[in-house]
Parts: sequence; C-alpha cells; structure tokens
Amino acid sequence: MDRFASDNQALFFRLRSSRYQLFEATVRPPSGSVSNEGMHRLTRYLIVAWLTALATIAPISAQDPAAGAPPAEEIRLVVILVVDQLRGDVFHRFGPLLGADGLRRLSEGGIWYRNARFTHGHTVTGPGHATIGTGARPSGHGIASNSWYDRRTGASINCVEDAASPILGTAGETGNGSPANLTASTFSDEWILATGGRARAFSVSGKDRGAILPVGKTGKAFWYSTASGRLVSSTYYYKQLPAWVVEFNNRKPSDRYFKKSWERGTKDDDGIITGRDDRSFEKDIHLFGKSFPHLFGKDLQKPEGKFYEQVASSPFGDEVITDFALELLDKEELGRRGTMDILSVSLSSNDIVGHNFGPESVEAKEVTYHLDRQVARLLTKLDSSVGPGRCLVVLAADHGVGFSPEVVSDRGYEAKRVDNADILKKINRRLNFSIRYLDWSLGFSGPGYFFDPEALQFGGRPAAELEVAVAGVIQGFAGIEAVFTRTDILGGKLPDTELARKVRAAFHPTRSPDVYVVLKPFWLEGTSAASHGSPYDYDAHVPVIFFGAGLPAAEVTRSIDVTDIAPTMSAILRTSPPSSSVGAVLPEVMGAIRARAKTPPRRQGL
Ligand SMILES: [Zn+2]
Repeated sequence: MDRFASDNQALFFRLRSSRYQLFEATVRPPSGSVSNEGMHRLTRYLIVAWLTALATIAPISAQDPAAGAPPAEEIRLVVILVVDQLRGDVFHRFGPLLGADGLRRLSEGGIWYRNARFTHGHTVTGPGHATIGTGARPSGHGIASNSWYDRRTGASINCVEDAASPILGTAGETGNGSPANLTASTFSDEWILATGGRARAFSVSGKDRGAILPVGKTGKAFWYSTASGRLVSSTYYYKQLPAWVVEFNNRKPSDRYFKKSWERGTKDDDGIITGRDDRSFEKDIHLFGKSFPHLFGKDLQKPEGKFYEQVASSPFGDEVITDFALELLDKEELGRRGTMDILSVSLSSNDIVGHNFGPESVEAKEVTYHLDRQVARLLTKLDSSVGPGRCLVVLAADHGVGFSPEVVSDRGYEAKRVDNADILKKINRRLNFSIRYLDWSLGFSGPGYFFDPEALQFGGRPAAELEVAVAGVIQGFAGIEAVFTRTDILGGKLPDTELARKVRAAFHPTRSPDVYVVLKPFWLEGTSAASHGSPYDYDAHVPVIFFGAGLPAAEVTRSIDVTDIAPTMSAILRTSPPSSSVGAVLPEVMGAIRARAKTPPRRQGL
C-alpha cells in the first residue's frame, strides 16, 4: 500500500474512532453570545450537531482532499505563534492573569488541542521548532539538538550554524545562521514552491533557531542579537538588510530599557501559586538580581552586550520581537497582496526566565503576564491589518519545562541534579585504566555522550564495545533511567517500549551521541533553576490551538502529536505534506475549513 493510501485509511479510522471523542469535546459558544440558559443549550446543540456532521463528512475529504475545499487564497495570512517553553497547563496555572484579548482569546475562540505532545525524546528548542514546521521528528528533519559535536572536526556546532552565511546586522556583529542543517521541507516551503514564489514566508524570534527553522529554506528569518539589541538576519536571506529593518534598528529598539527596571505587574493574592521571590537555586546569570525589581544595565555606562542579554532575559525581549513583527506586517504588506503569506513569530523570553528562575517562580508568573499582552498586541494588529476571517493563527510551543528538582523533592519525589562533568571524569578514567591512555571524549552534548572520533579509530576496540563500557559507567550514577548505545539504536536493537520509540525518533545517525542518556523523571542535568529536554510529559506536553479564519471554538481532549500541525497546514493549503512529515491531518480543523467554504465567516475580527 502506498504511503498516501495508507495515510488516508489511517485518517479514516482515526475519524471513526474520534467521533465519540468529538461528542465528548467541551464545546463553548462564542463569548458574549449567550444571554440565557435556553440559548446556551441551543447553541451547544447546534455546535455538537455541526461537529457530528463534520466527523461524518471529513472522511470523504480524505478520499478527495480538494473537493469542496476553499481556495486557499481566501485565507490571506497564516501566523505560526510559538512560545518558547510554554507548558501545556499554562491556561490553567495562569488563567487569572490572562486578559480577554491575548492567550485566552486563542483558547476560548479557537480549536484547542489540550492533549498535544512531542513524541521525540529530546525536547529542546531547535528540534521543537523544526518539528512544528516540518511535521517530522528529529530523525527525519535532522535537527537533533540545539547543538552537537561535528564528528569530522570535533567542534561543537549550533543547529543553525553555517559559516557560509554570516550575520547581516550592525558593524562588528559576529556569527552566522541559515537552515543548512535542516534536512526536510517545511509546510511553508511547500506552499512557496506551489505558488512559484508568489507567496512569501517571514519569521522573527528572540533566538536564531526559533526564527530560522519554522520557515525552512524559502522563508526570510530575523532574530534578536544579544550583541546589539537589534534584529539581524544573514547573507543566506539577503545581500543587505531591507531598508525598513535598518530604520527599525536605527531607532535602537532595546535601548529604551537602559537603567529601567523590570517591576512586578501582578499581585501575590491573585490565587496563582508561586514560590518565594528569591530561592537558593534561582540563578542571577544575567546580573540583574534574583528578586524584583530587576534593574537593567546597573553597572554599565552605556547599553552594551550584558544589558542586551538582560533585555532578552526579561519580558521586554518579547516586546522588542512583537514591535518588529508588527512593523514587518506593515512594511511587507503581509496578508494584503492577494495571495496567502506566512508569518512565524517565536517569543523566547519565557524560556530564558524559566531557566534562570524556574517555572514556579514569581518571575515566571510575571513573564506570562507580559507575554499575554504581547499576544494581545499581535492579535489586535492582525484584526486591523488582515481583516475578518482571513487570518489563521496557530499557537504552539517548542517544548515545556520541568519543575525545579528542589521543588518536587520537597513534595516527596526523589529528584536531584546530575553533573555531567563528574560522569565525564569517570568515563575517561575508566577507559584510560581498562583500555589505553587516550583523549577519549569530546564530551556531553544534547542528550548524551560523544567519543572523540579519533579515539574510536585508534582505540583498538570496536565502537559497540566502547559504547557499552561508557554506558556501564553512566548507569552507575544516581538518577539514570536508561542508556541506549548508538550501535543498538542504529541497528534496530531497542526494546519495544514507549521510551525507546521516543529515543529512536530523536536520533540522527551523525548528529546524535554515541551513548544516549535518559534521566529519571524530575532529575536535572546542570545548575539552571529549571530546564527541559526529557521525554516526560512536563517537557513534551504543549498547547496547540488553531484560531481565526472562521474556525469555531472547541476543546479537543484526544491525544495529538505536534507533528500533526504541518500536514494539517498542507491539507488546508492543498500542497504536498512536507518531505519527511509523519503527522496526521487534524480532522476538526480540516472539517471546519471545509464548512467555512460553504458559509464564509461573517464574524468581526479574525
Ligand atoms: Zn530552554
């Protein structure tokens, strides 16, 4: 059976089995439209009836994806909004903070998948953004981690590193960036190819990888420079920065925060649980204090590197990115040129704050409060610049985050910190004593341990044997759930477990480690207040919402995979799915898009 036939059959069975769950979905009437209980019941009845019809109709679309579908051009703009480190429980944990125009507008007005997760074992930013764009897992899209050891040179390289594409920014800016390491197409690549380049994709993020990966090889990416506080791109995208970007940068978008403070915007008595403001394991990495108010540029005479890092590590990093996104919408006339454009916005401050202070910190609560306001600014701008029913917004996250080990160990869980430097010392000692004296190790990177390739060559033992020796050392440390060797993973010799499948999905033959390590739940490598990267649900479970373009409000509780986003977008756009996509088309979204073609949206706003 060919791939598409098997996909269609799988979709058909998914739809059959999902019909019951559609009945189970909590369906809300649009806010403000219910004046009494009778009306409420009628609205519920109509929407449930509509969803039932949708579940019946949708399998036909699987046989003939184009039949009855709307011209894709009716939607003028797709906005992919990725919030770095946004955990799946954000709407519940921080609900009282959220205003009507921001994140809550998305969760209450869109199709909200409450049980969405990544199914790759290494949940970090580069792989997550690449999965959202490509519908593939790291084994398929090639972005195995945020960085890895290059086995040819022994150097650690960033996942978007490309020496052939230096940064375009202000004078003295160093670094580079391009999607050279991405080995799969994105849904936006497929759309741009299908339109012969008439449509365009742009991307902006606080981080290079958050900008570059979602829009693949054909988009234009801009990201925040911690050297200058400005927005940069690279020669991969432009010969020189567009004039409007130069003008934006000339206004020194970050300097307005110099000598200002990040102050509390919320109260302690709003019902949201946080830890004390200043806990022993919080980190003042950016030297603006561990408690409020956080002062920017305290010991500096003028804005420079350290200050620009402080901005990125506070809610104001997101504010600069949102400023740029709004300007981009205007200057590139996104969604207003008679074709459908794509904009990816990735907000990164939440992640940096989470690492430094922990997801249960006062700072995490404050950054969520500000994030909500930036989302509101973006949605309000889309209302006015793109117009009713013409903009589709997809909210997702690249990964979640675990509570700090100190917090969960106070509640009865055994959870501590692991120091890879200790493990590395022991590995080197063991190999030197038991085999021969050599520079054995490149070190730990991403989810595991890398040999120095020369040591593998001259070590005098087969790689498989050396991997087992290292795995044995690692297993001797506390907090280790499982180790997998490269030879076993590539040879298909993994146990038939959920964990092993996630590890295989995360594994790339040349960019992943020789020994892959999985810690026990809540254990953490390193000294950050908190982090992510594990296969566990606190890191893998993220919000996914499709909003706008006339889609109805619905909560869907069945399990979906983040890889489903990209092929769903391809189905809406009527293009091929991305080259390595493994996800399914989401029937709730696709059915609503078909229904929309029959009854064009008349609602105000998105
Ligand atoms: Zn992170």
